[in-house]
Amino acid sequence: MDYNRLAELLFPQIKTTPEEIEARYPKRDLPEGAKVTRMGPSPTGFMHLGNLYGALVDERLAHQSGGVFYLRIEDTDKKREVEGGVQTIIEAFSSFGLPFDEGATLEGDNGAYGPYRQSQRAEIYQTFVKSLVQRGMAYPCFCTEEELAEAHRQQEANKENFGYYGKYAVWRDRPMEDIEAELQKGTPYVVRFRSEGSIEHKIRHEDLVKGKMEVTENDQDVVILKSDGIPTYHFAHVVDDHLMGTTVVVRGEEWLATLPVHLQLFRAMGWKPPKYAHTAQLMKIDPETGGKRKLSKRKDPELALTFYASEGYPVPAVLEYLMTLLNSNFEEWRRANPDKPMNDFPFSTKKMSGSGALFDIEKLRDVSKNVISRMDADTVYGYIADWSAENDPQFHALITRDPAYSKAYLAIGRGGKKPRKDLALWSDAKGYMDFMFDELFQPDYTMPERVSAEDAKAILADFQGVFDENDTPDGFFEKMKQIASQHGYAADTKAYKADPAAYKGAVGDVSMVIRVAVAGRQNAPDLQTVMGIMGRDKVLERLTKCADAL
Ligand code: GLU
Repeated sequence: MDYNRLAELLFPQIKTTPEEIEARYPKRDLPEGAKVTRMGPSPTGFMHLGNLYGALVDERLAHQSGGVFYLRIEDTDKKREVEGGVQTIIEAFSSFGLPFDEGATLEGDNGAYGPYRQSQRAEIYQTFVKSLVQRGMAYPCFCTEEELAEAHRQQEANKENFGYYGKYAVWRDRPMEDIEAELQKGTPYVVRFRSEGSIEHKIRHEDLVKGKMEVTENDQDVVILKSDGIPTYHFAHVVDDHLMGTTVVVRGEEWLATLPVHLQLFRAMGWKPPKYAHTAQLMKIDPETGGKRKLSKRKDPELALTFYASEGYPVPAVLEYLMTLLNSNFEEWRRANPDKPMNDFPFSTKKMSGSGALFDIEKLRDVSKNVISRMDADTVYGYIADWSAENDPQFHALITRDPAYSKAYLAIGRGGKKPRKDLALWSDAKGYMDFMFDELFQPDYTMPERVSAEDAKAILADFQGVFDENDTPDGFFEKMKQIASQHGYAADTKAYKADPAAYKGAVGDVSMVIRVAVAGRQNAPDLQTVMGIMGRDKVLERLTKCADAL
């Protein structure tokens, strides 16, 4: 067979040589050990937690080593592509603060290793396919869908492996005349790689996540170029990651099955394969069955990345939680280093688990509470303002009306060894601080059990007379003790506990009356501080309002 002639027949338009293409992608000038990683999402309009999980690995590996993290849009499947899909990808990653150093952007390409959209790289792929054809390592296949389906049926009946191999590889050794005849008729065709592999052979692979393993060699003549001249994932992966200088490919474990194809293609091209990190699937406990299962697009809203922004999960909390799933020693590190930025943690693929990572949204909420409790009030305020601007404009208008007022409230119980942990989501902020705004104040004047309505009124009246917004919390409590004694409540809780029959209740009941009046509920952060922020007039107004309602 005259392979050169075949190559010219198939690719008359390709005049570039592989060498010319290689010359466009010089070796990257990076320090020793620097890793080059990439995200290769498809613009399907749906970005899921698994994408972010992998991206975090990519980002850490690259930036921890002084390398490059880039974005390549894998848009070879036009059927799955949606309008605005690229924008969704770019926005999702930037909202999670994972900036790409290089790659596709909304304004075009950024970097010297593009084009970064596979749909714009047809000439490159075809050049390499042409050279494989020239070397007899690839050939056209004119099989129709029906013929392939028929082969599949036969394989099923004979209990044979499925696929295009051995006697089922019907175009593998066809004479030139047959090929020319089909080309003349204009029959659509794909280009297949001529596999020399055998399922009798094993190849050793050392995965950065899964460890050492043996995989079976590929004996299938896989499609490398589809009938529209666009490559399959297999070929595009090999060509792009070679040319773009990727050193570590982080991808879902669903690609492990076709790894032998990829290794085989790298060898055929004479290129060094990258290292691979095949990440485990994200699993969850099914609330109905109690069993473990994969996160599902249909059943689990938390699989969509948009869920976290709209529900108000803090970005740093989501990232920290993913890091706890990724590296088994992260939580221990965090406990020892509560105030360090997450990126100081020495991330390592060695600490990644090869089996499924169990995603637990309750655990995420706990992480989130801790993360928020370590932020200062300005930061918390900024996040709540941003979140509410998008998701709750009415609340946004209120908390931004007087930023100093909102920040003073958010500062309560921050800092110190045991910070308050009231907020897990930005959407919790409204319920936590609504009573600070008259517009949202909907009091529930249920008084503590041991306090009658009459006593409550008297306590409120007494407090009106002595209230000073400049008191310290201790000063406030002294006043509470006095009022308690005056009305037959123990000023000292221990005294009450020692002889409950001697009192109506204790000082805590008395201060609860004030809390209920001011906050309209029985739990609120430090009351004197709250009253100091609210100011004299509002506090007096609330005391009166409550007394009137009793
Ligand atoms: N486009 C592939 C996907 O979305 C990327 C896999 C890879 O990172 O190589 O699954």
